[in-house]
Amino acid sequence: MIGAAHHASFEALLKGHRRFVLTTHVNPDGDAIGSEMGLARFLRSRGAEVRIVNQDPTPDTLGFLEKDGFRAEVYDEKVHAAAFDQAERLVLLDNSAPDRFGRVTPRLLALAEKTFCIDHHPTRETPWAETILDDGSCATAEMIFELVTRTGWRPDGAAAEALYVGISTDTGVFRFNSTTPRAHEIAAELLRLGVEPARAYQEIYERNSVSYTRLLGQALTSLRLDAGGAVASVRITRDMLQATDGDGIDTSEMTTALLAMDGVRVALLFRELPGGRIKVSLRSKGDLDVHRLASGFGGGGHRNASGIVLAGALDDVSERIIAEAKRPLGG
Ligand code: 5GP
Ligand code: MN
Repeated sequence: MIGAAHHASFEALLKGHRRFVLTTHVNPDGDAIGSEMGLARFLRSRGAEVRIVNQDPTPDTLGFLEKDGFRAEVYDEKVHAAAFDQAERLVLLDNSAPDRFGRVTPRLLALAEKTFCIDHHPTRETPWAETILDDGSCATAEMIFELVTRTGWRPDGAAAEALYVGISTDTGVFRFNSTTPRAHEIAAELLRLGVEPARAYQEIYERNSVSYTRLLGQALTSLRLDAGGAVASVRITRDMLQATDGDGIDTSEMTTALLAMDGVRVALLFRELPGGRIKVSLRSKGDLDVHRLASGFGGGGHRNASGIVLAGALDDVSERIIAEAKRPLGG
């Protein structure tokens, strides 16, 4: 829950500052972009100058949140260094781990003393001047809603939609354990502000490309079950990505098809990245904690949804992670 200390930190972030740069983690998701757009609209309504500059482009599925001149720029050292240097406050959203800002990280570390962070991931020590952290919030967008409405601001229709997208995507459309009564209360307020839930859902989840569905089909052919069917995993190779023109596709939600199988408690998706690295997406049901597993390999996330990027060959990495995933299941 957001409390008095969080509101006080947010006041300090605002007080006397007019120039802001907002950024978020690599491969921004609905909560990342939704939180940025919600906060940016709030700041601009107070007369502030705001730029949103991210390591990676906004995925097509979230493009509808960029409107009225609010657009996320892709970080380019030559173009944006001055904006970072001249900003009075840098605001990190939806991630506090220094290693998940990609090319932006060195500049953030150099400017850490004016960098604020608003995040809901459980986190170790961070180098930032101030971290507004609440791992009881279902989404960073929930935190933004609480912080900006406490100042008396009424989100406009576009801000309400952006915050709704953050909350609904991070809760798996209100089905994960992270879905609290408060998440539903905020969603209700956002609907009253004009959000159309069916429209938001269609924009995000019902505009998959043909490539996406072909890649899903290929991924599913690699299905493997371990621990008596409790651990389900699939592998996405460079060849599959090339054959389906799928390089830019976010594949982490393909785990949903694995968790949907009866008896599966952990779903793992291994994807070959360029440069000999493997991205692992981990999902679990109930009390089973994949965050602990991911942390052990330098990754992070939440109890039921985590990720890791590891150097190595696809087969080696998948054997190592599957062995660990089986351990608490007695497999
Ligand atoms: P996804 O599988 O959707 O990419 O990631 C699930 C969650 O795990 C994300 O919400 C994010 O919090 C976390 N995550 C994903 N990849 C990484 C990573 O490489 N490092 C860390 N620390 N967290 C990650
Ligand atoms: Mn989030």
